[in-house]
Amino acid sequence: SLDAAERVANLFGAGLQDQVVRAVDDVTLDIAPGEVVGLVGESGCGKSTLGRIIAGILDPSDGLVRFEGADVAKMNGADRRKADLAVQMIFQDPAASLNPRMRVVEIIGEAPVVHGLIAAEEMDAYVCGLMEKVGLDPATRRRYPHQFSGGQRARINIARALAVQPRVLVCDESTAALDVSIQAQVLNLFLELRRELNLTYVFVSHDLGVIEHIADRVAVMYLGRIVELAKTDEIFEAPNHPYTQALLEEVPRLEAKKRAFTALKGEIPSPLRPPPGCHFHPRCPHVFARCSVDRPGLKPIAESRLSACHLNDETAARPGRTRSAET
Ligand code: SF4
Ligand code: MG
Repeated sequence: SLDAAERVANLFGAGLQDQVVRAVDDVTLDIAPGEVVGLVGESGCGKSTLGRIIAGILDPSDGLVRFEGADVAKMNGADRRKADLAVQMIFQDPAASLNPRMRVVEIIGEAPVVHGLIAAEEMDAYVCGLMEKVGLDPATRRRYPHQFSGGQRARINIARALAVQPRVLVCDESTAALDVSIQAQVLNLFLELRRELNLTYVFVSHDLGVIEHIADRVAVMYLGRIVELAKTDEIFEAPNHPYTQALLEEVPRLEAKKRAFTALKGEIPSPLRPPPGCHFHPRCPHVFARCSVDRPGLKPIAESRLSACHLNDETAARPGRTRSAET
């Protein structure tokens, strides 16, 4: 139900090989080949919507998605199909997305045959190779999804996405349903596959631990907008935006001794009727007069780093916040 109109994504735009972030306007997200971008925020912030737009499952009502510089909405049928295959989505719940009546060999092997990437008679060997790549025993390929554990089903899901030889995987809470130790194994598999296949990931998650583990760069979203975009280390060590700071304070951490639990007062406003000015102003501990009337744009605050907060214009008033300084 979020308005997707102003969301724009630029996958592999020209000149981005050095992973430099550009913001053409305050909702543009440039993604460079081989990088892992995390999209974080509370539920309803639009991160899943943006993920679906990037994956080509949802079309933006206004605004565009570019793949290798070309607007996917203006591509002809064959090019659009290629772009759609190049960007694959992996959903949260493998149990729900794997057809229970299909054998794993067909689940993984069907799409590459349908799309003419392999011949039907090559399917069996092709699937065996993919299963090995994701840590599954190819001897189990004639079994049904329910005969696998949750972690194995997550791997089946990954193998199915890899089967069409994508360059980008959009993962929406892809490990959220798993036990912590299994989750770590699957995240490590994602990282291995990235190295091996030179994949690019967009990781959508409300789990900051997952994002810290896997992402190179993080886009923090609030009510449909990106409010901060920076390298993962920068976000976690010195969050700039008051919303990012509040999100990080909410993470229960063992090393945090008696941290006051002051962050994020109040409900998330409806994305359909966002507050005027800075959308975060009703909940922001640093709110001042300008915030309720003037919407802050996403602006550079350092090299490759963007934030949408008026405090950055008043440098003298900027409260310094680093994680290590807090106890
Ligand atoms: Fe808070 Fe104002 Fe910055 Fe918005 S612009 S995050 S309300 S200080
Ligand atoms: Mg979601």
